[in-house]
Amino acid sequence: MCRGGSCARPQETEFKMKRIYLDHNATTPLNSEVADEVCRCLREDFGNPQTLYSYGKDARKLVHDSRETVASLIGAKREEIIFTSGGTESDNMAVRGVAYGNINKGRHVISSSIEHHAVLESCRALEKEGFEVTYVPVDENGVVRLDELQKAIRPDTVLISIMHANNETGTIQPVSEIGRIAREKGVIFHTDTVQTFGKVKINVDEMNIDLLSASAHKLHGPKGIGALYIRKGIRLKNLIFGGHQERKMRPGTHNVPGIVGLGKAAEIAARDMEGGGNKVLLLRERLWEGIKTNISHIRLNGHPAVRLHNTLNVSFEFVEGESLILGLDDQGICVASGSACTSDSLEPSHVLTAMGLSPEIAHGSLRFSLGRNNTEEEIDFVIQALPKVVERMRSMSPLYREFLKKQGKT
Ligand SMILES: *Cc1c(COP(=O)(O)O)cnc(C)c1O
Repeated sequence: MCRGGSCARPQETEFKMKRIYLDHNATTPLNSEVADEVCRCLREDFGNPQTLYSYGKDARKLVHDSRETVASLIGAKREEIIFTSGGTESDNMAVRGVAYGNINKGRHVISSSIEHHAVLESCRALEKEGFEVTYVPVDENGVVRLDELQKAIRPDTVLISIMHANNETGTIQPVSEIGRIAREKGVIFHTDTVQTFGKVKINVDEMNIDLLSASAHKLHGPKGIGALYIRKGIRLKNLIFGGHQERKMRPGTHNVPGIVGLGKAAEIAARDMEGGGNKVLLLRERLWEGIKTNISHIRLNGHPAVRLHNTLNVSFEFVEGESLILGLDDQGICVASGSACTSDSLEPSHVLTAMGLSPEIAHGSLRFSLGRNNTEEEIDFVIQALPKVVERMRSMSPLYREFLKKQGKT
């Protein structure tokens, strides 16, 4: 993979159909500057950062610098960053670590109905182990109800875990406000910022965040590496046991190439945040205009304005998201559906149903998530391909025929 001083690219792509990738909330293509750094590190800096000689020192410096970059992106101190294997591990560590680390105060946790499964399933596991969890509902735009959150706080509440931007709808939660409420009541506040880290300005002090999860592969970095910010003084129980790495919170030999990749991805994100974001926003609005103009019986899911600049979630009545995905894939277009955002589950999305959508409408939804490499030409191709796919699927739908018949009668 890393022959001859640079990462050789496979040649086979020339024979493939041109593909349009609009699923950046699932994962992002590796930035080539990041790839170069990671490859260089894999080849040259194999040392274990825990060792005393020069190879160890070199590796240690890389880990140190990456930690500094990650910390500075969110206004944190270097010692407050722990490297993990990704967003899922960071979320598990935050939710379960805080719950078990503060058991003397109580066994009550607050989260929301629209969290990522990494948080939701961590909460479910706690429930089985004797904790109580309150899942705060959201409004029709997918925004957590602050009045309900206030009401849920009890003397034995140890943690509030509410995400920054939702991965399915892009709706941005009032995190500063939630942080303020948590601080007022003396409750620890964790937020999953996997979808916003490096895309939206975050400052852990201004936003009263005590713990924060991030992942490199949602940010044009490598997979299998992430970070957890833990505010100094927050009590947390470690979940795994071993050596002294990461203040014993997360033992195990450092994934140095991954850590380097996360640092580089964070550095590039900080550099490009504003310009890149605006470009993506224009493309997304172009796509939405095109869809609105050319397709009837649709609805936008998520907050119309307070939303991640790259995300567009739309329901198409009378069709199944899965068949739309396959129809679009035939055209080389890669998007996600509203069915739990996984390819192996047919449950309607818990996020969309929590917003009050019927299971049928939730099933007929698509998530377009754009990235900085998308172009106007790609978006225009989607705008002309999508209506035909939707029309073809609808023409096969008994529900749609019935609807047309009814309309003809009135
Ligand atoms: C992708 C994602 C995760 C999981 O991150 P991994 O690094 O893939 O484990 C967690 N939370 C949100 C909001 C995500 O989008």
